[in-house]
Amino acid sequence: MATAQRDYYDLLGVSRSATPDDIKKAFRRLARQFHPDLHAGARKGEMENKFKGLNEAYEVLSDPESRKKYDRYGHQWEQAEAYERAQQQSRGAGVGDAQWPQGGQAGAGADFSDIFESFFGGGRRRGGGPGSEGSGARGEDLITSVRLSLREVISGVTQRIQLTEPVPCRSCQGTGRVSRRPCPECAGAGRTPDTRMIDVKIPAGIQDGKRIRVPGKGAPAPNGGRRGDLFLNVEVAKHPVFAREGADLDATLPVWPWEAALGAEVTAPTLGDPIKVRVPAGSQSGNKLRIKGKGLPADGGTRGDLYFVLQIILPSPLSEDERRQYEEMAKAARPDPRGDLIRKAGQ
Ligand SMILES: [Zn+2]
Repeated sequence: MATAQRDYYDLLGVSRSATPDDIKKAFRRLARQFHPDLHAGARKGEMENKFKGLNEAYEVLSDPESRKKYDRYGHQWEQAEAYERAQQQSRGAGVGDAQWPQGGQAGAGADFSDIFESFFGGGRRRGGGPGSEGSGARGEDLITSVRLSLREVISGVTQRIQLTEPVPCRSCQGTGRVSRRPCPECAGAGRTPDTRMIDVKIPAGIQDGKRIRVPGKGAPAPNGGRRGDLFLNVEVAKHPVFAREGADLDATLPVWPWEAALGAEVTAPTLGDPIKVRVPAGSQSGNKLRIKGKGLPADGGTRGDLYFVLQIILPSPLSEDERRQYEEMAKAARPDPRGDLIRKAGQ
């Protein structure tokens, strides 16, 4: 897993301003010290690793071009280079305004995310999260989204989230090179995608569009610092029956004309079990029934309400009997229900 990679200058024990000659001398001295052939037993494996790291560091720092890039981009210099090339191609040669986060500075994140997305897909990266000033002290923040159903919003839910992140390639220890050739495992990128699963508890009553921060679950820090944070953008799927208004829920409740006229106890849906609802006598289409506490969880342990908007529907087609009854009602003298409208319209 994401092992921290040591700075090449540290590995060679030289300063960043070391001359090529200093670097060469330091390499030779350390190479003699760590050469695997000079060690046996338990120390041998450790020395092999150190020797390998030393070679890597020397390979990069002894070449003026790659040293310059390493100075600018750190261990991701080869990806940065590939990225710059791609940017230049897409914008016309020579423009070269590509950005790469240098030590996690704020503002450079947008382009960084592009390249990681195009390489690895999945969870998006965000540069310069809170507290990411300073030279690469902590890892990148990751952003991904989760989609919940309204039912899951009621109880809250633990979501298993799969994150794909680049980790140093195992074959080449993140150098991108094996025996001075591009590493076949990672095609020279030095990193391979790694998948990990984490469980995130999403509190009940979460709003659509809300962002949840999971501290320390972002990308690993390049130099062994603390991980970035993970941000989850919460999407709540539209429900076929209930519309959400904060913690309240709205639904349309169809009723027969006689239920509205005479009053009735009807069965109505909730996000849980259906409930009995009293439709008052004389209800009109569009009237709202409020069912207290049957909405979504709200702040302070309370719950929103559920509103039913009554919609009076007619039986269709009418049975013979129903037709006769409507004809009977039609004979009854009632004032014109449009009279008021017509009067007002003329004013
Ligand atoms: Zn590799």
